[in-house]
Amino acid sequence: MILDGKALAARLKAEMAEQMPQIEKEYGRVPALAVIIVGENPASQTYVRNKVKACEVTGIRSLMISMPEDTSEEALLAKIDELNSDDSVDGILVQLPVPKHINEDKVINAISVDKDVDGFHPQNVARLWLNEPCILPCTPKGIMHLIEETGIQISGKKAVVVGRSNIVGKPIAKLLLDANATVTIAHSRTRDLAAVCREADILVAAVGRPEMITGDMIKPGAVVIDVGINRISVDTPEGPKNKLVGDVDFASAEPVASWITPVPGGVGPMTICELMGNAIECFKRRN
Ligand code: NDP
Repeated sequence: MILDGKALAARLKAEMAEQMPQIEKEYGRVPALAVIIVGENPASQTYVRNKVKACEVTGIRSLMISMPEDTSEEALLAKIDELNSDDSVDGILVQLPVPKHINEDKVINAISVDKDVDGFHPQNVARLWLNEPCILPCTPKGIMHLIEETGIQISGKKAVVVGRSNIVGKPIAKLLLDANATVTIAHSRTRDLAAVCREADILVAAVGRPEMITGDMIKPGAVVIDVGINRISVDTPEGPKNKLVGDVDFASAEPVASWITPVPGGVGPMTICELMGNAIECFKRRN
């Protein structure tokens, strides 16, 4: 069955929108999210547009801040500082990647931990690993929502996460561990990846390699979560066209899996939806 992230995200965002009049009544204003984009990376521009659109749908006030590609690190940090001190701003997001001359870690560190809607700040990361209340990173949080949506019991299941990045692989492994799965994290040095994947009742692919996980690497009946967003060029009668594919080869995986997320329309919309949830959470905590 298809795990429809687009539909689930739409439902959750509609629920947030419904709460908004009550929030405004209770707190005297709605949550506000500042979204900073530096440069003109087309993929980043699409992500930012979708985030601003989600703010409109949920009733969150968005502040879109576009800075030119040649913005200095100092100027970006000063902008973050200004937003940190602005009491009417509840969440700050800097769309990654930033241009190469800007140090990404410095940017993440500069965002006030109370306004860290992405959950990337070292203090939020530490809190996650120490089981303290924290802002969870959006993609792993969205993945957990998707798995819960299947109704399967996570406890006692074998989960394999392919990828060990700070933003997806590691935190989703931690959340699955917290849900009492037995978790394996695989990566580029893993030997016999296919055999490791075949053990998974829950398989999360966060690799960044188009259609790398094929049906023969999946245990029959497994839940397959495809985090990958890869833009590839395919030949069509009208000439080459860009296509979005995941890290999982959907055609061969779909008949083997019990549940599988499509790309697009799976994890992607959930990530944005959780961002809205985090903005509301930051707002409530700050108030
Ligand atoms: P990173 O590039 O940071 O990490 C990729 C991971 O995959 C690394 O840990 C790497 O291992 C591992 N890897 C690479 N090649 C192989 C291989 N051949 N076999 C096994 N493991 C391998 O990527 P991200 O985690 O940031 O993103 C992963 C994918 O998810 C990307 O396609 C990205 O676009 C997408 N994404 C989607 C989001 C969404 O909302 N849907 C949000 C964030 C990301 P090693 O550590 O050994 O190098």
